[in-house]
Amino acid sequence: MRLCNVCVGMLRGGKGDIWTGTHDLTFEHHKSTASLRRSRKADCMICVVLAGLYRRAGADILDDRPMSIQATIHRLEAHHHNLLDERTPAEETTNHAAAVSTQVQGTDSARRLEELRRKFTAVFEENISIEVLPQNELREITNELLKLTKKKSNFKGFRLDFDIEKRYTRTFLLKPINYDTSALRTPKSTNTSSDEVFERACDWIAKCDRKCDCSRKASTAWYPKRLLDLEKLSKAHGLKFPGGLKVLSERADLRKTKVHLIDGTEASGRYVTLSHCWGKPKSVQGQLRLTGKTERKFRVEGIELRELPKSFRDAMLFASRLEHVRYIWIDSLCILQPAVFSTDDFEDKSEQDWREQSRVMGEVYSHSYLNISATAAKDGDQGLFVPRRPEYLWENEINVNYTGTNSFGSEGVTMGRDELTRCNIIDLSFWSELVDQAPVNQRGWVLQERLLAPRVLHFCHNQIAWECGGFQDVEGYPDKHTTLKVRYGDIIDEGRLKDLDERHGLRLRDFRLKGSPDPDKHMPKLGAYELWKCMVEVYSRTRLTVSRDKLIALSGIAQKFFEITRCEYVAGMWREHLESQLLWQVNELYRDGVFENPAHRDALRSPSFSWAAIDTPHGITYGEVTDYGRDRQEQLLFEVTGTQIEIDDRNNPFGLIRSGQLRIKPRYLRQIILRRLEPPWRVPYGWRLRDEAYPGQAAPAEEPSAEKEQSAIRKVQSIEHYNLNLDAPESDVDVFARDADLYCMPAAFGDRTVKKHWRDLICLLLIKDKATASEDIRSTGQFRRIGITRLSSAVHWKSHRILTEQPFDGDIILN
Ligand SMILES: [Zn+2]
Ligand SMILES: [Zn+2]
Repeated sequence: MRLCNVCVGMLRGGKGDIWTGTHDLTFEHHKSTASLRRSRKADCMICVVLAGLYRRAGADILDDRPMSIQATIHRLEAHHHNLLDERTPAEETTNHAAAVSTQVQGTDSARRLEELRRKFTAVFEENISIEVLPQNELREITNELLKLTKKKSNFKGFRLDFDIEKRYTRTFLLKPINYDTSALRTPKSTNTSSDEVFERACDWIAKCDRKCDCSRKASTAWYPKRLLDLEKLSKAHGLKFPGGLKVLSERADLRKTKVHLIDGTEASGRYVTLSHCWGKPKSVQGQLRLTGKTERKFRVEGIELRELPKSFRDAMLFASRLEHVRYIWIDSLCILQPAVFSTDDFEDKSEQDWREQSRVMGEVYSHSYLNISATAAKDGDQGLFVPRRPEYLWENEINVNYTGTNSFGSEGVTMGRDELTRCNIIDLSFWSELVDQAPVNQRGWVLQERLLAPRVLHFCHNQIAWECGGFQDVEGYPDKHTTLKVRYGDIIDEGRLKDLDERHGLRLRDFRLKGSPDPDKHMPKLGAYELWKCMVEVYSRTRLTVSRDKLIALSGIAQKFFEITRCEYVAGMWREHLESQLLWQVNELYRDGVFENPAHRDALRSPSFSWAAIDTPHGITYGEVTDYGRDRQEQLLFEVTGTQIEIDDRNNPFGLIRSGQLRIKPRYLRQIILRRLEPPWRVPYGWRLRDEAYPGQAAPAEEPSAEKEQSAIRKVQSIEHYNLNLDAPESDVDVFARDADLYCMPAAFGDRTVKKHWRDLICLLLIKDKATASEDIRSTGQFRRIGITRLSSAVHWKSHRILTEQPFDGDIILN
């Protein structure tokens, strides 16, 4: 039990409660950095998390100053109850969606409004009026009301929200303990190399074999071109017990035991794979790779364990103890690596080998018995096995005292009488921080390794975790709530990343639409396209060491999706509904009053219309895949009439591309002027139609007076637009050249869930290539994409009209 006095005082004793005039119980938690520091030092499970949140955001709590952390506790809403039942995720989420949609229905009738008004009036003891609001706002109010009127009888737990200085939030779940069903976990070992940890991993493998049988495919006879044979290592381990356990012989000098490189054609038995970060290892071992020079040695003499970096050593030691497993596949030891000093001859050979192997990378992982992931290791020197304090993994329980200080939130509870519930404290960001945000998962290549391998065993910073097609689990985590997340302020069951089922895609879509009616329900493969959108968005936030790998490192997943979409792959997008997918956008970060977009464009890697041309830490938002339904003619304002993608490797349609072009038929196309804005502007860029520029701007006839300047600024503001995202302003410098020939191409109305007359007009921003700039625009011109802009229907209705006044006649080529 590790909770500090502040946390126990609050949860158990109701200390620090403050009146905020709402129905929730609100508390003042820590009031100074010193107090939070003390609690962190005392290893308080909650305060360690809060302090960590602070540190990751770049702030520090080392200097003494006052700080404010507020905590609120409220009972879970009715639609959350099923999240906590022991059911399958599918059932859980369907119920959740149903609960949300019942809230939506019937909210727009006058009678319902009147009912809401009366309830609010009663609660706040003053007369409240409610206007007819857009449906999503109305739903929020309904949600508030649900909180106010929730039934005590279905009580299933509390949610505990922390708000640190109005900047960071964190949510915990307080789940009543059911001693009949909850299994106690008390790991004791002080290192993840222990037998205890190994046995836990074997339990998961056995459970998977028994229940979901995820590795069935791995047993078919497919092998990578090269493998490392662990036989000698397995034997050196000594005694083997039934149940997959082998006991390490202390006499064996494992450091000198050798592994050998063999051809896949010679293999028989299972192989495992490794996901790891190459990083910048400092050790000599970290430099060992398969090259033209080392290949012979690897095959004939073998590699001593001590010659290898720690991550490889640990993975091999672990794998060699597994029953049935004889081989391991590690990229840098099984694919020829370009040598630092080499002849051109060898370069050719390694390049060819790399192409060949990158093509089958998806296969390598799909056929793996188990993918061992060095999840927490930043480089090869850090390894899999780490020392740890096992008590950090034990249950965290507390008697929560939900005594009302406030009559709204604590229906039926009277002041002063204790209402104690023994609860587990569940951190809802736990899985995400332990696994999703761990170093290895920041690496571009790893996403497909993790998704395509039937089962993944994560070696995290203090424990191991499991992911397979059927379940996920963690060594030290109460119950099975690793898939619960906070999204859009609500607690949802997001399901598992490895669940690539179309139905899972539909569930994710439901969450994204926040319960609004789905305008694209009629579309076949909708769930698959939603999954693709999610994958690309996750992938776009990862990093690659070699820039050209962008599409290749995703090609295994693309191959898998192709089995569903069955249409042409267009540089990271699909030919079917391509128009909608072209409306991706680079995410900007708004920090301290400034928009930040450090994106970089690699124009050699991908055509400008593809998201794959962009590297950005904040990722991209993929276009919402749609056919625009029955209103296509009215809602979609351009058409892709042809695609031409020149693939670099004929054998890999999902890999590297040499060039790509789209032939597009825009209905409208207008020349624009783009300018950079300086502070005090809060937005970085503005654009306006070129022929809407006010007269006299080019050459002011007289000395501008302050008054005239003001009026000129106002004039510009009235016709200028600021809601735009440039794709990569730091790379696309030609965009700001004085003679840049820029265009705005109205593309479609969105978002699709918004009522038709409230939708924005979404336009692509293009630059016309110099080489063709002299041609008449009506003949086919060559363009590149530079960004995207949205004009709101409420503010820019006039621009909507102007932009769609003059039809454009002709095609353009988008490079
Ligand atoms: Zn605490
Ligand atoms: Zn499984």
